[in-house]
Amino acid sequence: MKKTKIDDMKDKFQPESLMMSYGYKPELSEGALKCPIFQTSTFVFRNAQEGKAFFEIAYGLRTQGPREELGLIYSRLNNPDLEVLEDRLALWDKAESCAMFESGMAAIATTVLEFVRPGDVIIHSEPIYGGTDYFFKHVMSRYGVKTCSFIAPASRQQIEKCFAQAAKMGRISMVFIETPANPTNALVDIEACVALAKAYGHKSKQRVIVAVDNTFLGPLWQHPLAHGADLVLYSATKYIGGHSDVIAGACLGSRELMTRVRTLRTFMGTMGGPWTGWLLLRSLETLKLRMTCQMKNARYVADFLKDHPKVEKLYYLGELPAADPQRAVFEKQCLSAGAMITFTIKGTQKSAFKFLDSLKLFKLAVSLGGTESLAEHPATMTHADIARDQQERLGITPNMIRLSIGVENPQDLITDLKQALG
Ligand code: PLP
Repeated sequence: MKKTKIDDMKDKFQPESLMMSYGYKPELSEGALKCPIFQTSTFVFRNAQEGKAFFEIAYGLRTQGPREELGLIYSRLNNPDLEVLEDRLALWDKAESCAMFESGMAAIATTVLEFVRPGDVIIHSEPIYGGTDYFFKHVMSRYGVKTCSFIAPASRQQIEKCFAQAAKMGRISMVFIETPANPTNALVDIEACVALAKAYGHKSKQRVIVAVDNTFLGPLWQHPLAHGADLVLYSATKYIGGHSDVIAGACLGSRELMTRVRTLRTFMGTMGGPWTGWLLLRSLETLKLRMTCQMKNARYVADFLKDHPKVEKLYYLGELPAADPQRAVFEKQCLSAGAMITFTIKGTQKSAFKFLDSLKLFKLAVSLGGTESLAEHPATMTHADIARDQQERLGITPNMIRLSIGVENPQDLITDLKQALG
C-alpha cells in the first residue's frame, strides 16, 4: 500500500494510537475514513507496462527498486484489506513483516510446510493445540516428518534432553512452542529454546526455526520475537478477532523468513479474504481496550476462585508462587497474566459437568479470547483426542475446567461462578 502521513511517525506513537490510521490512505478510496471492503478477486492495471512490473516484483524476477511498491494484482497475492491489516498487526510484535491467513491452522500448516522437509524432526512443547498436534502427528508424518516433545513446564535441562533425543532421529528443523500451554497455563522459556536451537544450528550448520504460538497472551502481553524467536503465530480467531465471529490466523517475523511464508501462502491459497481482513481491522481498533479489560476481569475472578472451598487448584499466571521456577519465566517474558484461568473443582468429572451446566452468564463453549466469557471441560472437549493416560501425564484431569474471561462486569461473572459452584 502507498505510504500514509502517519507511517513515517510509527516509532513515535504506540500501536493502539496507530490502529485507526496506519497503512491506509483515504485519498485512494474516495476519502473514506475507514478502509472499505475490497471485495474483488482481481485488480485492473493502468497499462501493460505496469502489469509487467508488478509481476516482476511479485515473482522475484528482478530486484524491487528503492521507491518501487508492489502494486495490487490478484487477491490471492495481495488485497488492500489484508495489507493494511498485516501492517497494523505487525506493530504490536514489532515484526518486520506479517502474513494473514484464513485460519490459525492455515497459518501454522503453511509455515511448517515451508520450513520442514521429509526426514526432519520437529521439537514441540506439550500440551499444544489439538489441531497442531494432529497436523504434526497425522499429516506431517505422511511426509516422513518426526516429532519429539517435552512437557511444559520444562527446565532447560529437560529441553536439552529433548534436543539430544531429537538429534538422533534426524535433522531438527523447527522448534514449535505454545506458551502458556493450553489448558494448564504452563510456561515454556522462549529464550532457553532459542539458545538451544542456536547451539544445535551452529553445530549442525543448519538453521533451526523457533516458532511460538502466541495465541493465549499475544499480541499485547507477550512478544516472542523480542526474546529471539524467529516466528510468531496466532489464531486470530481469538483475542485479535475478539468477538467470536471470524476465523483467521497470522504469522509474523523477519522480512526474509516471511517472504518464504508468503510465497508458499500464494501457492497454497491459504491467505485471508477481504471480508476477514476488514473484520479484523475493526477488531484491532479495540484490541488493547478488550485485552486490558479481560486481563483485569480475570484478576477479580482468580481472586474469587483461589479462596473458594470447592476449588482444588488454580492454574492462573497471576498466582505463581515465588518459589516456582515458572515465576522467573513469567517475569522475563510475560507482561501480564492474561485472561485464561483453569481450575480443578473438588470432586470428579460429574462435579465439573454439574458446575458447567449451572452457569448462566458464562457460555459453555470452546474457543477463547472473545468479548463473552466461556467455560469448557478440556478432558472431554478441546483435548478429547488425547488418550486418558496421556492427559494425566500432561496434567489434564477429569475435574478440570477452563475459563476464558470476557469484558462483562466482573462482579456479574463472580455472581455466576458463585451460584454455579454452590
Ligand atoms: N493455536 C491455538 C493456541 C488455538 O487455541 C487454536 C484454536 O483454538 C489454533 C491455534 C487454531 O486456530 P484456528 O481455529 O483459528 O484455526
